[in-house]
Amino acid sequence: MTNITVCSRFRPLSSKEKRVHGDSVCIRNMDTETFIFKDEKEEELVFSFDRVFYEETVQADVYEFLALPIVRGAVNAINGTIITYGQTGAGKTYSIEGPSILESDDLQKGLLPRVVDDLFECVKSADESDKYTIKLSMVEIYMEKIRDLLDLTKDNILIKESKVQGIMLSGVTEIFISDPAEALQSLSGGIANRAVGETQMNMASSRSHCIYIFTVQLELPDKRVKTGKVILVDLAGSEKVEKTGAEGKVLEEAKTINKSLSALGNVINALTCGPSTKASHIPYRDSKLTRILQDALGGNSRTALLCCCSPSPSNAAETLSTLRFGARAKHIKASPTVHRSQDKLAKKQGEVAPSKDESCDRIL
Ligand code: ADP
Ligand code: MG
Repeated sequence: MTNITVCSRFRPLSSKEKRVHGDSVCIRNMDTETFIFKDEKEEELVFSFDRVFYEETVQADVYEFLALPIVRGAVNAINGTIITYGQTGAGKTYSIEGPSILESDDLQKGLLPRVVDDLFECVKSADESDKYTIKLSMVEIYMEKIRDLLDLTKDNILIKESKVQGIMLSGVTEIFISDPAEALQSLSGGIANRAVGETQMNMASSRSHCIYIFTVQLELPDKRVKTGKVILVDLAGSEKVEKTGAEGKVLEEAKTINKSLSALGNVINALTCGPSTKASHIPYRDSKLTRILQDALGGNSRTALLCCCSPSPSNAAETLSTLRFGARAKHIKASPTVHRSQDKLAKKQGEVAPSKDESCDRIL
């Protein structure tokens, strides 16, 4: 069964948000797992996740909690996926890449370069007889079309399924990487290619999903090969496009993104519903995104979802929508509770555990 970790991360207020609302924020920190969110109607909701990263959190803490177990798993042939979800500007790319993929400042370095470092560390510390290879692919999904970011001439990669290899991106570029520096160069090239394609297509990076795939292969002495994957997904912005005003390409983009993000939510939900859910009932085929991630999300795998949020009241509606997505993914534990007054909240946080009904006052 899929093991999912759901975290939320609040970035610092931006200067624009500060100009509109000063220093006010829509969250109140309770502890490392729980916070109170004030919605647009000033209602207070308590959210709990596996971990909440507040604005002062450093990148290393996010990495250690969320990604390190996945990297260690991949070296032992357990697939893992790290997904950043949230509205544009909420901190998805900052979490994954850092300010730049080649950032060397340890406080700012993103998840991606840390994954690279630790993959090579794990491989280095393995037995001499273990022969590891690490490969990298990088693709982007825009309007349900898959583009190879390591070779822009491949602009319509197809997904194939084989009995032996599972889900495959047909003809996708796979670069063998032999050390962290080489990996960072390839990643940096892929990121630059993404920008080139965006200009060609007149598209903002926030409207496409970017997927980084590390394949770790171990050749055993008897020549059998064990494979584990670490996949990082920087999702397209989850924001709703205004009902009025959006038309043509913008509306089509918004509908496509919405459909694939809903498909992702449905797949995660089905996977975490319990052993009774049959693999054939998991709706992977509803989007390219879920289809590519099929092997990495299902089966014996680990998934980490980082719900990236703005702390500003001006983004409260989008933040609530992001938190709901996270709560739904972790539906057993993270059902938020509505508390309409401070008194009730104090009672809930006190020694008496809430009854099931009370804690599920309103499922968001
Ligand atoms: P997204 O990818 O979700 O659209 P970005 O990651 O590009 O958003 O973040 C938007 C802006 O906020 C960037 O300027 C980024 O540097 C900044 N930012 C995001 N998260 C943090 C953080 N945790 N600490 C400092 N700055 C951040
Ligand atoms: Mg981004």
